[in-house]
Amino acid sequence: MRKLAKLLAGLDDPFQIVKRIRAFAYSKEMDDYALATASRMVTHLFTDAGRTWRQAARRNSQGRLINEALRKELQGSINGAVRHQIERNATIIKSLPLDVSKLVTEHILAESMKGVRANDIAEQIKELFPEKSNARAELIARTETSKTSTALTRARSENLGVGWYVWRTSEDSRVRDSHALMNGVLVRWSDPPSPEQLDGEKRSYGHYHAGEIFYCRCYGEPVIDRDLIAWPAKVYYGGRIQKMTRKQFETLFFRV
Ligand SMILES: [Zn+2]
Repeated sequence: MRKLAKLLAGLDDPFQIVKRIRAFAYSKEMDDYALATASRMVTHLFTDAGRTWRQAARRNSQGRLINEALRKELQGSINGAVRHQIERNATIIKSLPLDVSKLVTEHILAESMKGVRANDIAEQIKELFPEKSNARAELIARTETSKTSTALTRARSENLGVGWYVWRTSEDSRVRDSHALMNGVLVRWSDPPSPEQLDGEKRSYGHYHAGEIFYCRCYGEPVIDRDLIAWPAKVYYGGRIQKMTRKQFETLFFRV
C-alpha cells in the first residue's frame, strides 16, 4: 500500500489514478509480493503451531504417536493443506488493490455528480486512500491469521485422527459474549456450532469453528489426550452445549 501511494503521488487526474491502481493490482510485482507474504505467514503459523504440538507430545501418553505423525508431515502428508492456505491467502492479498480501485471509482462518481472538480477529487483520493486501504488490510490480516491457524490445526488433527478440540478464547474483555459461552467447550471438527444461536442472539453468522469469523481471536486446542480434560466437561452436541462425564462422552463417541 505504501508502494502504491508513492506511485500515485504525481497524478492529478482521478481516472489516471484508478488506471494506475488497477495496473498495480495485476502486475507481476504484486503477484510475487502476495505469494511471498502469504508463504511467510502460513509457514510461520505452521512451524509455530508445530512447536505447540511437540510440547503437547512431551506431556502426553500418546507422545510417540504425535511425534511420529509430525515427522511424517515433513514428508508431505500435510503439504496439500499448507499449499492451499498459501494460495488462499495470496488471492486475498491480491484482491486488496482491486477493492481499493473499486472504492476510488465509487468516490469519483459520487463527487463528480456533486460537481467537484477533477483535480480536487484527485487530492481527496490521495488523502482518503491510505486510511481506507490500511483499515481493510488490517481486518484481512487479523481475520485471515486466525482462519489459517484454525485450518492448519484442523488439517493436523485430521492427519492424526484427532476428532475433537477445546474452544479457547483469549479470555479478555474484547471477547464477544457468544464466544465467551464457547470457552472450554469440546467441539467436534465435523460439527461446528453457531455461537450466536447458542447465545440466543437473533442474528447468525452460520456454523463455524473457533477463529473462523472476522475479528475472532479464539483458537481450537486439539484434544490429544482425554486424561488432560477436566471432567465432567461441556460438550457441543446435538445443537446445544451439554455437560458430560467422561464415561458419557466416551460411550457416545468412542464406544469403549
Ligand atoms: Zn472468538
